[in-house]
Amino acid sequence: MDDIDNQILSQLRHNVISKMRAYVDINNERLFSDYELSQLSKIEVSFLTKNSISRHGLTTNSDKSKKISPSNCKVRLNRKLFEQKYSLYAEFVLYHEYIHCLGNFSHDKNFRQLENLWPNIEKMSIFGRQLTRELQENNSQWAWTCSKCGFIVKRSTRKFRSNYFHKECLGKLENIPIIRPTSLEH
Ligand SMILES: [Zn+2]
Ligand SMILES: [Zn+2]
Repeated sequence: MDDIDNQILSQLRHNVISKMRAYVDINNERLFSDYELSQLSKIEVSFLTKNSISRHGLTTNSDKSKKISPSNCKVRLNRKLFEQKYSLYAEFVLYHEYIHCLGNFSHDKNFRQLENLWPNIEKMSIFGRQLTRELQENNSQWAWTCSKCGFIVKRSTRKFRSNYFHKECLGKLENIPIIRPTSLEH
């Protein structure tokens, strides 16, 4: 990772942790302690590989034999989150990952309650669906299918531009995206 990447990631960490510092319960008690927040700020955050089609963010335990905790996890984020239009959503994704880092492995009720503290949560799910769609379109394979006999002539990572015909039956080829199922966010 270069300097710009590091700068972008450390700015994002800072923004998210600042927001988390402000959350209080009905008794005005902080939901995330200074200790927890300082632990979170030390967690390694990097990027998912380019080919990661469906994940927006991912938290894994570095030592698989032990439970996730701030000292036993790393976070990776999809690079597309750093496009301008996703800047607010990127914060939300890192917040989601931070909840995992604090030891909440599954998306249970407690997890969702914490997650729902984030402002504009409905807007966030719209961004999320938009990003998923974009990732799928950019990464989907195309099947060149004969419109006459249904034969799949070729699979390709790109659309063709001109008119192609199936040699055997002279049917016109159509281009159909193969949408792979999205793995669950985590
Ligand atoms: Zn054909
Ligand atoms: Zn998750």
